[in-house]
Amino acid sequence: MVRFRTHKESLVSYWTQKRVVVTGGAGFLGQHVVQRLQKLGADVFIPRRKDYDFTTLEACKRCMQDARPEVVIHGAAYYGGIWINQLYPGKIYYENLVMGANIMEASRQADVKKFVAIGTACSYPGYLEGTLSEKDLWNGIPHDTVVNYGLTKKMMAVQALAYKKQYGFTAIHLILTNLYGPGASYNPDRSHVVAALIRKFVEAKLAKAPTVEVWGSGKPVREFLYVEDCADGILRAAELCNDIQPLNVGTGIGTSIRELAETTHELSGFRGSITWNTSKPDGQMKKVLDVSRMRNTLNWAPSTLLRDGLRKTIAWYESHKEEADSRP
Ligand code: GDP
Repeated sequence: MVRFRTHKESLVSYWTQKRVVVTGGAGFLGQHVVQRLQKLGADVFIPRRKDYDFTTLEACKRCMQDARPEVVIHGAAYYGGIWINQLYPGKIYYENLVMGANIMEASRQADVKKFVAIGTACSYPGYLEGTLSEKDLWNGIPHDTVVNYGLTKKMMAVQALAYKKQYGFTAIHLILTNLYGPGASYNPDRSHVVAALIRKFVEAKLAKAPTVEVWGSGKPVREFLYVEDCADGILRAAELCNDIQPLNVGTGIGTSIRELAETTHELSGFRGSITWNTSKPDGQMKKVLDVSRMRNTLNWAPSTLLRDGLRKTIAWYESHKEEADSRP
């Protein structure tokens, strides 16, 4: 059996007193990254949107001057689940494209030693069969339900390559799969499927409703990564990976939406039934990453089983419902 080193064993010295900017550091994933960095002794700067609007280069440059980072983890993004991509494709396109370009340019000008771009599995071709391997990244257009988000994030990989060639800039690009856990968006227009289902089942249980509506056919297959595992993987990659080629970060395990809905149904304690609304989009039929390069490069794999992660997330949601529901 392969033994993966624990997070603490390898990261403690690398992060101690390191100056790190985490864009999106107050957001869902960013919060978990920041908590870990602080535990590891890093000097973390979290730029807030009201102070630094990253759609302007001026704000990005000011952020770098104020923080003087050695490492930048660019996790800020305007995104969400399948529905927000249908509601606001223009905003998703513009904000993510411009933020990525500006932050990387400002990081280069500020002589940042390592830039960690947080990318997405939505960048992969949307109509491939099988698991998504890094070598397939450029072999087709993303699925039309997520194309605006997927392509703009992927442009950071193009920018990184150009900057490497011209300026010797060091960047890595991590391709994350669907995340879930405490602190996600539970807003029905914005949420990804796990948060959406947890909210629906918990609310139906409280209201003693007869049924819960789940979107699509139930057939699409997704991979779900617990946000704390993801934060571990990002820090590990930031330390150990120097390859400019994008790197998948996930579990490599596919679960159908039907199975996810049935498991969430069971764990939530809701006693009613599930109704499938097939007028809502299925999106990509299979979005599961090939994580073999990740395992080899990082000597690491996520440790939270989906059932355990769902249980923890349901418990968190039930005890933070008001706060969770009020997030945009
Ligand atoms: P995607 O991975 O980009 O497609 O994003 P999502 O996490 O939003 O959706 C994943 C799948 O879950 C899609 O097939 C959705 O149709 C399905 N799904 C089922 N019920 C829901 C729901 O209530 N909200 C969302 N966002 N997706 C749902």
